[in-house]
Amino acid sequence: MKNLSNSDYKKIHQNIETIQDEMFNLISELYPICRSITGDGVRQSLDIIKKHIDIEKKEVPSGTQVFDWCVPKEWNIFDAYIIDPNGEKIIDFKKSNLHVVNYSIPIKKKIKLEELKKHIHTIPTQPNIIPYITSYYNEDWGFCMSHNQLNKLLPGEYEICIDSSLKNGSLTYGEYLIKGEIDDEFLLSCYICHPSLCNDNLSGVALLTYLAKYLKNLKTKFSYRFLFIPETIGAITWLSINENKINKIKAGLVATCVGDSGNSTYKKTRIGNSKIDKIVSHVLKYSNTNHSIVDFYPYGSDERQFCSPGFNLPIGSLMRTPYRKFLEYHNSGDDLKFIKKESLGDTFKKYLECLFIFDKDEKFLNTNPKCEPQLGKRGIYRNIGIVRSDMNTDEIEQRELAVFWILNLSDGENSLLEISEKSGISFEIITEASLKLYENNLLKHIDSI
Ligand code: ZN
Repeated sequence: MKNLSNSDYKKIHQNIETIQDEMFNLISELYPICRSITGDGVRQSLDIIKKHIDIEKKEVPSGTQVFDWCVPKEWNIFDAYIIDPNGEKIIDFKKSNLHVVNYSIPIKKKIKLEELKKHIHTIPTQPNIIPYITSYYNEDWGFCMSHNQLNKLLPGEYEICIDSSLKNGSLTYGEYLIKGEIDDEFLLSCYICHPSLCNDNLSGVALLTYLAKYLKNLKTKFSYRFLFIPETIGAITWLSINENKINKIKAGLVATCVGDSGNSTYKKTRIGNSKIDKIVSHVLKYSNTNHSIVDFYPYGSDERQFCSPGFNLPIGSLMRTPYRKFLEYHNSGDDLKFIKKESLGDTFKKYLECLFIFDKDEKFLNTNPKCEPQLGKRGIYRNIGIVRSDMNTDEIEQRELAVFWILNLSDGENSLLEISEKSGISFEIITEASLKLYENNLLKHIDSI
């Protein structure tokens, strides 16, 4: 197994079109499945992910107490429909699983239109769109349809059926760990509880699957843990079961809404200036793409649990257009056409770069700190491979300047990322130059002193 290196990173850039196509194909395969916070839809989805990475499927029984919450009964659905007074099937779960309120209890009866309307959800401002509605903790039932369809419903008696079950069972989640040289870890989390919705959040599922698939073949310093959990209750459950391990988490990202064509948005950790905050800011700054960075706020996705005051983990969220900020959020507009392969690819590159910096960043000590070492004597530029003849003048200058920055700032206080930030020279150039200086005994690892 080989080390994660700059050249691997470049190879990824060259293959990004294939990777983004494959991510899109995985989303297309997962899209038709009706998922929820529990049930066979989650298991089926994890089985598909298992074709790519050897994910561990975990089951937590209904009724398990997890902090202030309780793992709910397991919900499964087999069919649902509405037949109108003319005998026509006007709603069919098999055509879109969004037609049924997620976690609806079973029901089969004849019902008058006035009564049925109390259980129908629409979005009047987007009359062609079917909303996504859930009722996890309130035993109820309902249907979702376009507002236009609601307006066309005939008076009379309707036959309705929701063939579902809500019984003691379990909550299912997936976990995958890539063990590095050390146990300290980076946590990557996404949720697998939404039915046919793409950006929120099959995009996150595909992103983490492909990051794991790529990273598992490389030797890394840190360990990387990937979670595929139902949102909120899954994060609470995982934290409750793993409370004794969380001190190993040194950084993390929640992957949600990573496939739309909007700009990247980074939501900082609750801490606000942790290592991952610095890394993501750096990656976005050097990405040459428009982006925004926002402070932590206590609503959104699973960062709400990871960053609750009792944990306060250094976990942020790198997304594109945030949840609730796009019209297609939680409705049938969030389909395969809404996500873009190029956006998935761009997000993949940014995440990988964050992981690369996290794994490679370290502090060195200059072995010759009293005045500058005499570089000419060592033929430092040309002979040790910091600069090469195929580089342009700018690149050569950056690499030469990198040497001065690294030697001066390697006093045990500044990490390579901090040197990159202070010098304005890319992390990639700084790491390459530091490696050459280390090989020439001009730098020492801090822990080897
Ligand atoms: Zn959502």
